[in-house]
Amino acid sequence: MYDYLIVGAGLYGAVFAQKAIESGKSVLVIDKRKHIAGNVYTEKIEKINVHKYGAHIFHTNDLSVWNYVQKFAVFNRFTNSPIANYKGEIYSMPFNMYTFNKMWGVVTPEEAASKIAEQRKEIIGQPKNLEEQAISLVGRDIYEKLIKGYTEKQWGRECKELPSFIIKRLPVRLNYDNNYFNALYQGIPIGGYTKLVENMLKGIEVRLGVDYLENKDELDMLAEKVIYTGAIDAYFDYKLGALEYRSVRFETEVLDKTNFQGNAAVNYTDRETPWTRIIEHKWFEFGKDENGNDIPKTIISKEYSSEWKPGDEPYYPVNDEKNSELYNQYKKLADMENKVLFGGRLGEYKYYDMDQVIKAALLSAEKELSK
Ligand code: FAD
Repeated sequence: MYDYLIVGAGLYGAVFAQKAIESGKSVLVIDKRKHIAGNVYTEKIEKINVHKYGAHIFHTNDLSVWNYVQKFAVFNRFTNSPIANYKGEIYSMPFNMYTFNKMWGVVTPEEAASKIAEQRKEIIGQPKNLEEQAISLVGRDIYEKLIKGYTEKQWGRECKELPSFIIKRLPVRLNYDNNYFNALYQGIPIGGYTKLVENMLKGIEVRLGVDYLENKDELDMLAEKVIYTGAIDAYFDYKLGALEYRSVRFETEVLDKTNFQGNAAVNYTDRETPWTRIIEHKWFEFGKDENGNDIPKTIISKEYSSEWKPGDEPYYPVNDEKNSELYNQYKKLADMENKVLFGGRLGEYKYYDMDQVIKAALLSAEKELSK
């Protein structure tokens, strides 16, 4: 009999398992996928660590989380500096002096600020939709070239039909800082995320290709308690209805060239290009293999935003009123399951960045294991 059965070998499950083993508990980890690491899974192809479920850049302001992950991987100095391609014109993201110089030819921060102020005047009164909100924050030029097409592809709807609250802020930097995240600590684990999670799970029994819900009765008999990081609605057999997600589809290609776009992420901000962005995976590790040699090929993933339907891979929870209410009802049921703890992005139906999911697992493990 194990102390804990952990359903899901993603970050939440791996962190909980690691802490449980550290405090002398016995643990069995299962995952229905054929691999560990959940959505941060990276697969080595042509010497490149490919981010199979979308690009993942680790960033945090939480020193305790940063110190924790350092135990399992060495992080490189990768800094997320995406660029935008609008019909062949390249702009720096986030919006900064490089962007403003390219857009308007302005040179000083004062000139940039007054150009934005002038364009913002167009919107009088309370913005009624996302388009008006964006213009009221950064002006029409930036909206038209860098926000409109991208947002419409992401949501599958026109910006005029989207609510203004989706964009609360649009950071405008009157400096040359290209670092997208405002985080104190940032990087990519050298050797990929799978290796990081493998190190967390060192010495822990892991069974892959095992679906908990399909074998629930027999698996429940194996452990005192269950940590469940799968979808909360699936656990209850969708009896109150299915929670909705937004999905992403990736088309990945191996190219017989060394350099496709010179950057890890390029956003395509026009409406006509069907993909939202292209990721070139080798740049997460500066184009080098583990021995520091240049890699002759390259791998790119085109990312398409897609409507989610039951059975598709769930990516982003839709935190609107309807889904939040449904989640709250499932949460009430979950709280009554005294042998099971629900956690992680699917178990809590919550968008978590990696550092947040690690922090949540650390806190829940601390609470649980000190009992
Ligand atoms: P998961 O990784 O989904 O793990 C849950 C596991 O449970 C899965 O492996 C699943 O197979 C398993 N499971 C589910 N049901 C069952 C079952 N019935 N039986 C057995 N196993 C089951 N965060 C960042 O900090 N930086 C980024 O740049 C970033 N980029 C992202 C890009 C995309 C496209 C997305 C969608 C997310 C991104 N994130 C990023 C967030 C990050 O992916 C999550 O924080 C993290 O993966 C959550 O880990 P988890 O353990 O909660 O979930």
